[in-house]
Amino acid sequence: MIPLLRVAVDTPLRRTFDYLPPLEGAVPVPGSRLRVPFGNRLLVGVVVSLENQSDVPEGKLKRISEVIDTHPVFDDALLKLLCWAGDYYHHPLGEVIATALPKLAREGASLAARREVWAATAAGREAHLAGEPQRAPKQRRLLHRLVAAAQTVDADALTAELPGWRDAARALAARGWASAAEAPAPSAAIVSNAAATALPTLSDEQAQAVERISQADPATFHAWLLHGITGSGKTEIYLRLAADTLARGRRVLVLVPEIGLTPQLVGRFAARFPDVPYAVLHSGLTDGERLAAWRAAHDGSARLVLGTRSAVFAPLPDLGLLIVDEEHDPSFKQQEGGFRYSARDLAVVRAQMLGVPIVLGSATPSLETLHNAALGRYTRLTLLRRAAAARPPVLRLLDLRAERVHAGLSTTAVTTMQQHLADGGQILVYINRRGYAPTLACTACGWIAPCQACDARMTVYRNAARLRCHHCGADRDLPRQCPTCGYAVKTVGQGTERVEETLGETFPGISIARLDRDVVRRSDELEAVMTRVASGAARILVGTQMVAKGHDFPAVTLAVVLNADQGLFNTDFRAAERLAQTIVQVAGRAGRGERGGLVLIQTEYPEHPLLTSLLDGGYDAFAKAALEERRAAGWPPFARLAALRASALQAAHAIAFLDAARALAAESMRRGDAPVRLLGPAPAAMARRADRHHAQLLIESTERSALHRFLAAWLPEVEALPAARRVRYALDVDPLELF
Ligand code: ADP
Ligand code: ZN
Ligand code: ZN
Repeated sequence: MIPLLRVAVDTPLRRTFDYLPPLEGAVPVPGSRLRVPFGNRLLVGVVVSLENQSDVPEGKLKRISEVIDTHPVFDDALLKLLCWAGDYYHHPLGEVIATALPKLAREGASLAARREVWAATAAGREAHLAGEPQRAPKQRRLLHRLVAAAQTVDADALTAELPGWRDAARALAARGWASAAEAPAPSAAIVSNAAATALPTLSDEQAQAVERISQADPATFHAWLLHGITGSGKTEIYLRLAADTLARGRRVLVLVPEIGLTPQLVGRFAARFPDVPYAVLHSGLTDGERLAAWRAAHDGSARLVLGTRSAVFAPLPDLGLLIVDEEHDPSFKQQEGGFRYSARDLAVVRAQMLGVPIVLGSATPSLETLHNAALGRYTRLTLLRRAAAARPPVLRLLDLRAERVHAGLSTTAVTTMQQHLADGGQILVYINRRGYAPTLACTACGWIAPCQACDARMTVYRNAARLRCHHCGADRDLPRQCPTCGYAVKTVGQGTERVEETLGETFPGISIARLDRDVVRRSDELEAVMTRVASGAARILVGTQMVAKGHDFPAVTLAVVLNADQGLFNTDFRAAERLAQTIVQVAGRAGRGERGGLVLIQTEYPEHPLLTSLLDGGYDAFAKAALEERRAAGWPPFARLAALRASALQAAHAIAFLDAARALAAESMRRGDAPVRLLGPAPAAMARRADRHHAQLLIESTERSALHRFLAAWLPEVEALPAARRVRYALDVDPLELF
């Protein structure tokens, strides 16, 4: 009997589609890509299973048009993970699979193909030095790109970077300045590099952790929580475990929050394993680079894959170890679009399905993970001491009510900074706001720079003389007078730019660097900032959350948290956890070298229990108190949550849709389907963003299975609601932020 192909296609429809196999040739196996007729289009789909029967009458079944892969792009284990993710996040499988594929692979790019690459010739390099070709800017740019590259450049990469480059390439080739070649995969994304470093002797704590993990059966699932303070040597432990796994001929997958901010981690893996080809997958790659890295993972040539969120789907065979660094980081959760998955959670599921160990590392584990450890699902290993001869920092609260404050800086903070600068120390200043000032206000009539499209104030950018909205991107001239009454305007509060300016005035002659998303938008700038700080050329680094992440600046002796209070009174039940994590992470940046560090936290609420528990008992004490609060309030991890989020041009449409969804839920519960609790619908805290009105309905249950049974029955009915057509909506399972 000839089997039918059950195919997942990238559409929002919650179903798969059956097709007849090709008339000639082998029947494609599950995990392979095909082109299939779909409506009046041809789409790329992936075979999910082979079936003997279909609900579609035989005469109506269509035949596939083309088999793309001779070897499946997803092996059985990965396909199973994707199906699991589709079920768990209640998201259409076709879209889940599309998320797991690089764009070019989604469009059908061959995985086995030899790559077309280009390079400058010797004559081309000479011509480039002489400033040629002078009158053809496109050719000049291409030649410059080719000369600047250490190796050959992928045609895919050129297509992405320099649209229309082919004509220029032909012209350069005709003059003998550039040439094309075919290079086999493995590709440019795989780098094998320089000298190995000498191994440090492990501390007792490190040695114990490595021993515990290595003594467990490497062919059995085991989740390890490596809870180690910053600088305790977690990375060294990852490296030892990875070395074991690689030595056994298995492959290693390392997930990191944001690769731009953790070049040191990638660098340390690369330096430790100079002969091990690796691939890096992150959102900053061009489509061509991404495909190349993905191919390297898929064909097994990369033995080590490091990447951000979506790398959890990297198709590497023989995976023997998964590592999630900074497991608490919110960037592991996809918070936009339709498929809102947690890469950390899926990594654990992947390890479980494969029967291999996973290590979740953090100085500030999420409360969910700590709870899993308390329940015995994860084994917790603790590192309390810093690895190198560094002492943990001392934390101190500065009472803003009792201090003289100028532009957000208290007198004590300024004098302490002065001392540290005089002693040759480096200083880190954390503030939760980018831009010059949170907003601009009229001194007479009460106008406060509103965004036309959002329920928000516009942020002042003084250097650029702009007002910008952080929520919708609106951007306009900075007014000199109040646009309504013509009186004078003044900036209110401070952001990173202003703090940078104030510090420059306070400490003339001291070089200051700034790090925030405005800086990072230009990646060359990020590197320049990092180099200035790491080399000690910049003595003060001012920045947002980014300063708290992954970088080792050994000379920092003082960290100042300018305003802790925004996190203390927030409607989101996770705000306290985020604040505690930020403070501990910022503190972790201080005193990593031989000198001990000091952390000053400015607050108007020095008696707030969150701050006192953190200062008196550290992150553990805080986490214990916070988990108790969550238990009492019935929030995760003591309950399971999902959020149905909707937005529409009219607030009433969003609410009407959620009301209707709620009414359906009530009906289904009357039928006794599953016990869940519904909260809302309610407008989001910032209801209007980019001219759309946002609202949400929360679904909560103490039992995971009850929540999922409910969602599975409810969502198809919600989708069929007439009100659904007037809104954009998405389901967020295990939401990180409630707004
Ligand atoms: P974490 O990842 O926990 O923040 P790291 O692994 O980055 O810690 O270690 C912090 C610093 O200590 C790094 O500079 C690292 O090279 C160094 N280090 C780690 N383990 C050891 C060790 N056993 N002996 C000496 N130095 C170490
Ligand atoms: Zn005014
Ligand atoms: Zn706006």
